[in-house]
Amino acid sequence: MKAPASPIVIAIDGTSASGKSTNARLVAKALNFVYVDTGAMYRTLAWYCLKKRVDINDAKAVADLCRRWKTKLICSDGQARLLVDGYCPESEIRTTETSAAVPHVAAVPKVRAWMKRTQRACLQFGSLVMEGRDIGTNVFPETDYKFYLDASLEERTRRRVADGVRENLAARDERDSQRAAAPLMIPLGAVIVNNSGQTPEETSAFILAEIHRRQQARRDRLGPRLNAEAT
Ligand code: C5P
Repeated sequence: MKAPASPIVIAIDGTSASGKSTNARLVAKALNFVYVDTGAMYRTLAWYCLKKRVDINDAKAVADLCRRWKTKLICSDGQARLLVDGYCPESEIRTTETSAAVPHVAAVPKVRAWMKRTQRACLQFGSLVMEGRDIGTNVFPETDYKFYLDASLEERTRRRVADGVRENLAARDERDSQRAAAPLMIPLGAVIVNNSGQTPEETSAFILAEIHRRQQARRDRLGPRLNAEAT
């Protein structure tokens, strides 16, 4: 696909361990778009709270830290990354402790407002494949390309265990779905993809086919003005 004249956002939302990261990476690679893992941004803040001994149940303290932390958004190897104090944490943000802490941090409205601004700023890097919980509903509700991934709880639990992480996925999903600020839900107009029993190659091929189909439909609808987006 040629670089589009104006950036396109592919929004991939879904439950925990539903294959968002794997498929978003595959789709970003196929389209040569920048991959954005918004969960990693929330995880980075949760990790930073734990590191700075900020009580994750104290919404005001978490919001204060989020207002003050020194971050920088960069793009390297086709991926947007959030540096804090010049450092990009990786394995530290995937621990059981951070996973349990992150929904608390993610429920704070001021944190979500900060994250939304930062995630929208990723457009400076070009077209995006952005994965998370509220991308199609809240961060980029205007995009025509929305996907919602899910799989059975048994299969999602098996995937996490294979990654070496034991956690209560149902509890995290419930917290994410029930918070007041931008809860996890199926975005209006999203394609729902239940990928139980599918390989990532099958799921990403389905998503790519749907993106191409929607682009064609958009071109048919809007005509020559969209020639610059031709595949
Ligand atoms: O996708 P991942 O499992 O890394 O997300 C970790 C957590 O970050 C989620 O359980 C959720 O609490 C939060 N999150 C969110 N909104 C996003 C992405 C992640 O609330 N867009």
